[in-house]
Amino acid sequence: MSVQADCWEGRPWPLPDAVAQPFFDAAGCGRLQLQRCVNCGTAVFYPRPYCTVCLGELQWIEACGKGCIYTFTVIRQNLSRAWRGQVPYVVVMVELPEGVRMMGNLVACPADEVHIGMPVEALFVSSSAWTGGETAGSGEPTSDRAGRPARGLVLWHPIPG
Ligand SMILES: [Zn+2]
Repeated sequence: MSVQADCWEGRPWPLPDAVAQPFFDAAGCGRLQLQRCVNCGTAVFYPRPYCTVCLGELQWIEACGKGCIYTFTVIRQNLSRAWRGQVPYVVVMVELPEGVRMMGNLVACPADEVHIGMPVEALFVSSSAWTGGETAGSGEPTSDRAGRPARGLVLWHPIPG
């Protein structure tokens, strides 16, 4: 897994709340983390304050950073200023061996070569270039729970094989 800077330039960064901040902090350091319940062992993603099965306490664990595409969509039109120059791009739902699915952008793969079951690996983007104040094109902030800006993002790329 590697960390790249500036390849997200011009696009909005998440403004995570306190529950999700550790995920983005880890991503900024090149680590993929998710939560696991200390009571029942259920893996949980997206970040939540309590276990979705038993309401137990969650702890952050390190994920292996690899998975398979569960489903995907090709975005061919986006009216947002930040995204219109990026089309077509691929958004994937990745199934991780830890037992959760994560949504993210697929990079380094032409849209017509993506397929369900494709093995992928996490790719991290650091947010050193974060400038704040970006919007998703609608004029609305990307989050109204603005805490600290995300330190990193998780993208996905195919594992050569
Ligand atoms: Zn639980």
